[in-house]
Amino acid sequence: MNSFNYYQPTEILFGKGRLKEVGKVASKFGCRCLLVTVPAFQEIEPALQLIKSVLKENGIEVVHFDKVIPNPTTEVVTAGAKLARETEVEFVIGLGGGSSIDTAKAIAVEATHQGSCWDYLYFRQTQPTERTLSIIAIPTTSGTGSNVTAVAVVTNPLERSKSALSSPRLFPQVSIVDPELMLTLPPYMTAVTGFDAFSHAFESYITPKCSPYTEILALESIKVIFRYLDAAVRDGQDLEARGKMAWADTLAGLCIANSAVTLPHGIAMALSGMYPQVAHGQALASIYLPIMRFSLKYATEKFATIARLLNPAAVAINDKEAARKFLDQLEEFIESLGIRKSLKEIGVIKSELPLLAKTSLVLPDYTNHPYIVSISEVEELLNESYEL
Ligand code: NAD
Repeated sequence: MNSFNYYQPTEILFGKGRLKEVGKVASKFGCRCLLVTVPAFQEIEPALQLIKSVLKENGIEVVHFDKVIPNPTTEVVTAGAKLARETEVEFVIGLGGGSSIDTAKAIAVEATHQGSCWDYLYFRQTQPTERTLSIIAIPTTSGTGSNVTAVAVVTNPLERSKSALSSPRLFPQVSIVDPELMLTLPPYMTAVTGFDAFSHAFESYITPKCSPYTEILALESIKVIFRYLDAAVRDGQDLEARGKMAWADTLAGLCIANSAVTLPHGIAMALSGMYPQVAHGQALASIYLPIMRFSLKYATEKFATIARLLNPAAVAINDKEAARKFLDQLEEFIESLGIRKSLKEIGVIKSELPLLAKTSLVLPDYTNHPYIVSISEVEELLNESYEL
């Protein structure tokens, strides 16, 4: 067996109704916190009221930063960090989707270090130190796994670039995963975030960096997502489906924290950097099929294993046929979720495909793919994804 590492410092409180425990949990980290969310809207108002009152009951003063936007920008982080410094908060709570949790993480760094969070990206020499504020993550989507990862994704609009901070300091100390918080997520966002969770489990399985530990987590996550995502999209109030998706998302997050994402993530990050209006999960769904058709011959055995996991009858056929069956299952899955959209449909400009191809190879994600692509191959895959 190959050697591997597995590290996961985040305490996970999982289950329906567990948001109520935030007061007790938070009191370990100080008596003044920055609550980081999107601007309030009707659906998240009850969760906001509950969290504020529970924190208050536990003697914690709440400073609310409610300026998060999807695909959060460096400007948003700077505004939050300024407020955190001015109010001398001792820890941050990110309540929301990956955008809110990542903003909270990036604020935890920028509020306590010189310069902006962009100066602490994963490849820079200077990295977040022990001054980084403690982080509590409370997801309201089941997609990014950010509540258990060491990563904060941020967009720099001036550079049209999306990149990441990645440091063990960014693992949340505590993550409260309460499926009741996901009941209000609309069908389209449920579909794209669920597809993001699938892509984490799937890519962390097909990469050569997959370990025996992450393999178990990834395969379980894939199985649960194929079984329950459709139900969560069709009926957002289905608490069982929401709970299963929250579990699958958490497993997939544990996978990416210890294995890796691959080529689709490198492309999707570049795409949302250039087109921030595109949701991360949609960017993935729009490029996934051409990439996986192309990758079949480099990961035949693993595709076949997933085909058999999803359909035990595929045990009777050989690996190559089973791997092809998986591609059919994947196509059907994306289609049934209503997220099969071409790059053209999501607003990508055709003349920008060469630039997008170049930018897709900036993050190291493509080097984790079962086959390392060239820039011309990426451009070809983008052309294939351009129109259905
Ligand atoms: P999001 O946080 O951008 O939220 C999408 C939309 O859904 C927002 O308008 C939000 O207000 C709304 N929303 C969220 N929860 C809701 C609820 N329960 N009810 C109603 N509306 C709700 O979406 P996301 O996909 O969770 O996060 C995407 C971001 O996370 C991207 O920037 C992506 O790159 C990043 N990401 C981070 C990691 C990581 O490890 N840090 C991993 C993958 C992706």
